[in-house]
This record gives sequence, C-alpha cells and structure tokens, in this order.
Amino acid sequence: MQMGEELFSGKAKSVYRTDDPELCILRFRDDTSAFDGEKIEQLADKGKVNNIFNAHIMALLASEGVPTHFVKRLSDTDSLVRKLDMIPVECVVRNYAAGSLCKRYGIEEGISIEPPTFEFFLKNDELHDPMINDSHIISFGWAKPEHIEEMKTLTIKVNSILRQFFLESGMLLVDYKLEFGLSNGELILGDEFSPDGCRIWDKTTRNKMDKDRFRQGLGNVIETYKEVAQRLGIDLN
Ligand code: ADP
Ligand code: UDP
Repeated sequence: MQMGEELFSGKAKSVYRTDDPELCILRFRDDTSAFDGEKIEQLADKGKVNNIFNAHIMALLASEGVPTHFVKRLSDTDSLVRKLDMIPVECVVRNYAAGSLCKRYGIEEGISIEPPTFEFFLKNDELHDPMINDSHIISFGWAKPEHIEEMKTLTIKVNSILRQFFLESGMLLVDYKLEFGLSNGELILGDEFSPDGCRIWDKTTRNKMDKDRFRQGLGNVIETYKEVAQRLGIDLN
C-alpha cells in the first residue's frame, strides 16, 4: 500500500491518501491534547499504544457486527482504514457521571447512570464542542435523520459490547466518544477507540486509567494506558 499526501492533520492523528481512493492511512502520533487543544504535549509511545489498542477494539466490534472503517494495522503507528466522509458530530454514551456532565447538571462524579445517557456534540474546537440535539443536526444538515438513528443505535450497541469487555478485566467503562462517517452511503464507525477518547476506572479503587490522567496532571499517563491494554489481553509488542 503506497502512502500518499497528507489529507488532514488533527490534534493527535494524521490522515494520508493511498493509491486506493477508497482507503486511507490513519497515523497515530504521540501528540496529546486536552481542553480543545489548549494543552498539548508529546507522550512517548502514545501513538503506538493507541494504534494497537484501537486495532484490537475495532476488530472486536467488527466481530460483533458493528461496521467499522478499520481494515488492518500497517505498522506500530499506522492503520489502513476506509476513507470516510466524516459526520461532524461526536456521539457520547455515559455509564457513570464524570467530566462535562457533572459540571453541566451539578451531578456528583461517579454515580451510576441507569439507563446510560446518549448525547450528541458538535465537533468544533473553536466553539468548544457544544452539545446539540437531533433537531439541530437535521436543521443544519450535519447528518440525515436515518443516520442520526443509526448513530444512536450503533453507539449504544458498542456500549453493550465494551462495557462487559472492560468489566471482565476489572474495569468500568465510564463514558466514551465515537465518530461516524459515510462511505458509499453506508454509515461506518470511524476515528478511534482508545483511552484518549473514553474514561476507564479501576472497578475497585476507581483509579482513573484514561486521558483524565493527562487532563488532570495525574502522571503515568502512558504507563496506565499500557496497564489497561495488558489487563484486556492486548499485546502491545
Ligand atoms: P481532531 O480532529 O479531533 O483533532 P485527530 O487528531 O484524531 O482529531 O484527527 C483525526 C481526524 O481524522 C479527525 O478529524 C477524524 O474525524 C478524521 N478521521 C477519522 N477516521 C477517518 C476516516 N476513516 N476517513 C477520514 N477521516 C477520518
Ligand atoms: N471526548 C473526546 N473528545 C472530545 C470530547 C469528549 O474523546 O472532544 C470523550 C472524553 O474523553 C470522555 C467522553 O467523550 O470519555 C465524554 O466527555 P465529556 O463530555 O465529559 O467532556 P470532557 O470532560 O472530556 O471535556
């Protein structure tokens, strides 16, 4: 697979063209950002850890019938994926209260949310990713009504798969963000699933094992990501 020009460089990953117009290469960099790009640092090994982690999770989701963009891992930091027209919304499911939900509604961190909530956010750093609803998405043309329903269904399906997967290894999947895109009219899970885009707590101690370690300056960020992978049986070598 020939790597072509860079199509897009985001805060943590870059997207490259390939000789197949339907495929692109996703490169996971060590850059780590928080607060809509206000805090940026390089964390050694993060690109590799997240690329391998994501490959494992995407393969698991595909095996459970979730359509994903993941094709195969090409190297430590690069994966081949289907090129998608990304829908500019973020889909968030929450099993326990944390982060912006606590601030927004004055809810105590850590309480169990039953049933889990589903939220849409507009993917726009300058506007700090405001929360939006179905009506905004339809009226402003960010996605079609049928794709809104599909994004909800698939994001909640991912919860039923991954919540159990983490729990079996003694971890709570607190919340996570997914992004979807379209390829030939088909809605497909894109972007990544890694400790950068979700919250994971140890079930017993509730130790934070995700990007909150970076956001909150708790230290041992990548060491902890590696521990999550190891507990899940993901081989990082
Ligand atoms: P951000 O845009 O939040 O800074 P990243 O640094 O993670 O994020 O950049 C990756 C970009 O690639 C994101 O904008 C994401 O929407 C986009 N992307 C993810 N998967 C695909 C795909 N399969 N095809 C095209 N673009 C993708
Ligand atoms: N998230 C993300 N990218 C974003 C916003 C949120 O990956 O641009 C993830 C975040 O890591 C968490 C979940 O989505 O797992 C919910 O995030 P929240 O709304 O609580 O926002 P935050 O507190 O991270 O600003």
